[in-house]
Amino acid sequence: MQLQQCGSLQYYTFDSLSQFQGLQHGAFTRHGGDSQGVWHSLNLSKVAGDAPEAVHANLAAVAAVFNAAPADLTSVWLVHGNHILEAGAGAKGAPLGQADGVITHIPGVPLLMRSADCVPVLVYDPEHRAVGLAHAGWRGTLSGATYNLVQRMIQVYGSRPEALIAGIGPSIGPCCYQVGPEVVAAVRQNFTAADTLLPLQRDGSYHFDLWQANARWLKQAHVGSVEHSGQCTACQVHDWFSHRQEYGKTGRFGLVAMLI
Ligand SMILES: [Zn+2]
Repeated sequence: MQLQQCGSLQYYTFDSLSQFQGLQHGAFTRHGGDSQGVWHSLNLSKVAGDAPEAVHANLAAVAAVFNAAPADLTSVWLVHGNHILEAGAGAKGAPLGQADGVITHIPGVPLLMRSADCVPVLVYDPEHRAVGLAHAGWRGTLSGATYNLVQRMIQVYGSRPEALIAGIGPSIGPCCYQVGPEVVAAVRQNFTAADTLLPLQRDGSYHFDLWQANARWLKQAHVGSVEHSGQCTACQVHDWFSHRQEYGKTGRFGLVAMLI
């Protein structure tokens, strides 16, 4: 990923997606916003306890990068599932309902996916001019939210998976994501060769490699290209919000994508 600067905001773009004129995107770091305290400073969530005026200013700043208004940002109500909704004509800025993924083929609709450790995934179809975002924590990863995102794009837009380009955004890495026995058991139940996704630690605990697990879903869906940001939100809590590293008292950063 490449670091970009726009005013006080800092965001990263995927190398593999930057070449396309038809797509604008960015994973916004926590820098350059108005929020104070644990939400410092570019918190994009209205439901994390932050001051509403600060969140609104932050959303406006992010939207402005896309020449859009804050009300144009189009997102879903995250529920740690695997349901994907379409933002069709007239959906710009409308609340789309409960889901963990959103797709569109309408230019000028900035899709926003909020996160703080969960894996934000961007999938772009340069052939059919469509884009989608998914959000996958351990539950969404186990239930294949990323796989469903691709399937939905195939179903709705006729996307050819080999032509799709995916980016796995900043999120908690295998270095930091310790999980308990119930998650370990669920991973073993849902994935073949699960041990490669569950690096064993010296203290006998297991970490869950969300990056590789989501990359596996993309491979299973025959997605042509996958880029990893490789940025761990818990290691790099100075740049990103991390639910785990900050004991749940934190904001949400955003991955935004818009067709031009
Ligand atoms: Zn880490």
